[in-house]
This record gives sequence, structure tokens and C-alpha cells, in this order.
Amino acid sequence: MRRQSKELNIGGVLIGGGHPVAIQSMCNIPSYDVENTIKQIDRLYDAGCQITRLAVPDEEGAINFAKIRKASKLPIVADIHFDYRLAIMAAEGGADKIRINPGNIGDINKVREVVAACKERGLPIRIGVNGGSLEKPILEKYGVTPVGLVESAMRHVDILEKCNFTDICISIKTSNVKNNIDAYRMMAEKCEYPLHLGVTEAGTEYMGTIKSAVALGSLLCDGIGDTIRVSLTDDPVKEIYAAKAILKSIGMTDSGVNIVSCPTCGRTRVGLIDLAKEVEQKLSNVKAKLNVAVMGCVVNGPGEAREADVGVACGKGEGLIFAKGEIIKKVPEDQIVPELIKYIEDLTGEKI
Ligand code: SF4
Repeated sequence: MRRQSKELNIGGVLIGGGHPVAIQSMCNIPSYDVENTIKQIDRLYDAGCQITRLAVPDEEGAINFAKIRKASKLPIVADIHFDYRLAIMAAEGGADKIRINPGNIGDINKVREVVAACKERGLPIRIGVNGGSLEKPILEKYGVTPVGLVESAMRHVDILEKCNFTDICISIKTSNVKNNIDAYRMMAEKCEYPLHLGVTEAGTEYMGTIKSAVALGSLLCDGIGDTIRVSLTDDPVKEIYAAKAILKSIGMTDSGVNIVSCPTCGRTRVGLIDLAKEVEQKLSNVKAKLNVAVMGCVVNGPGEAREADVGVACGKGEGLIFAKGEIIKKVPEDQIVPELIKYIEDLTGEKI
């Protein structure tokens, strides 16, 4: 059961309200480099990203934001800290959502101006609380704790609600995975606004993916989360692959191949590791939602292979091919991949 949350429209991508979890990223090209930012957005789009975010650090960044938005295939969230004028410039420049924390803008009249600019264009605002930049009073009272993160977010929410603005999305990211999970669980109870999930400063590709999978996976399994970002110190395109893999691993995608393969052991009598890698690589662009089993022997092999849409249970230098629970045929090892692909092409109508 998904948590009930308010529906918001981010440049045509609907989030909350039971819509599928949207995959986000953030461009990491310097904000003055318009051309390369547009190229990066194209790559993110091709990888399956649905929403991206751009830092708008200054006036030049806001002017460039408008140019980039015009050329972008993706909705863009303008990421702004403190300066309400940049938020208004970004809204005028075509932003699809503004990320700004109203409690950090200062004067309530400035918040009202941002709210008016967003309302006029139907733009949601994301409150983005981050463990690394909690307000001093919150830090002194709670430290970087789940309660502190939630309290901070609720302060920002109150300000927007007082300005009659409720098209709000919230993130409360911290780099501590356990605190992150606890904070989002707490936040989920407090309001009905959509939640954008992420572990901040998660690290480089390997550990960053694992931390994100643990935190985001736990929350998504609880039904919490409307959009996700896997933050990696790397090419943001890798964030998309990681996010898709997380969603796929818990059955939250409506397309793509899920490979079930055994770890191999002393019973394995084929080159299963290379075989599984080859199957995964060859099927990486398949659009249909499929479970494909690549199993090393007859102990667990036939069971898994039967459960899958297509599968193989290997023996000594050979494999039993299954499709939809039926044994199709026995083939020699070098024919396993071509046979699997043939059946998947038949099943999906896709050319691999
Ligand atoms: S399926 Fe067979 S070969 Fe693979 S790990 Fe299990 S027992 Fe070993």
C-alpha cells in the first residue's frame, strides 16, 4: 500500500496521488556552461530520468537557467538558496518546480513574492531540508536527528501554509542512512505532501548506491516516497541506472528485465558467471517487464526457472530452457544465450 499523498504536476510529470515513483537527478555541470548542461540533460533523458534539478547560484545562473529550460527535454527544478529574487527569475525563466526553504528567505513578504510567482504559473515548491545545513536553533535543540529534520521541514511548511500555498513537496535528507529512514517515516505521518526521497552525500558509486538502496528501498517498501534521487559523486547518469535498479528490485517498475541468477557453487558445471552477465547485458534495453532466471544446477534451478517468464537451469555443459513454467528444450552451453534471447523475442515481440 502506497502512502496517500497530494498530487503535484512537475512540468507534466505527475507525482503523488498514487502515480508511479518518479526518477530524479541533478546536473553537475557549472551553471555558466549552458551547452554542456543541455548535453547532460539529453543523456539523463536517454537514460530514463524524468525530472532534473539545476543549481541557480546567482543572477548569471538564473539567466542561463531560462536558456537551458528552453532546450531541455526534461522538467527542471530550480535549486535556490536564500535569494528570493533568483527564485522569481527562475519561475519566470520556465522552472517546473522551485526548491527553496521559505524559512531561509527572511522577510515574509519575500516569501509571499515567491509564492505569488509560483501560484501564477502552477509551480510546486520543494522544501529541501538537509542534515548539513539545519538552522542553528534546530541544531542546538535536536542536533542532526530525525526529530530535528522533521521539525525543520514543518517550520518551512507552516510558512508556506500561512501564505496559502500547499503545492508542496518535501525532502529531509541526511547522510546517515538509519536517521534518514527514521526521519522520512516520521515525516510521512505528519502530512500528506509528496515526499522526495534521497540520501544526501551518499558517496561514490558503489557505497552511494548501497546506502541509497537501503534507505530508499526500506521506505519504498513501506509505501513511502513519490520521487527518488540516488545521489552519487559521479556522472549523474549512473544515478538513473541505480534508481531504476532499486525500483526494479522491489517490483516498482512497469518495464525492464529482472535477472534472477544463482551465486554458483561447487555444483556448477557451466560458465554461469559470464553467462549471467551476458544475458543481463543483452537484455538491458528490453522494455517489457520480465523475470529471467539463470541458474547453475538442478537443485534450485528448475524451481526458479519455472517461476520466471523465461529461464535456464544448467547441468554439465548444457542447459534446460524454460518458458512460462514449461520445459522447452535442452541445449548445449554455447546455445543457452541465443535460445533464451529467441524465446524472449517471441514473448515480447521486441528485437534484441
Ligand atoms: S542453483 Fe545450484 S549451482 Fe547455483 S548456487 Fe544453487 S546449488 Fe549451486
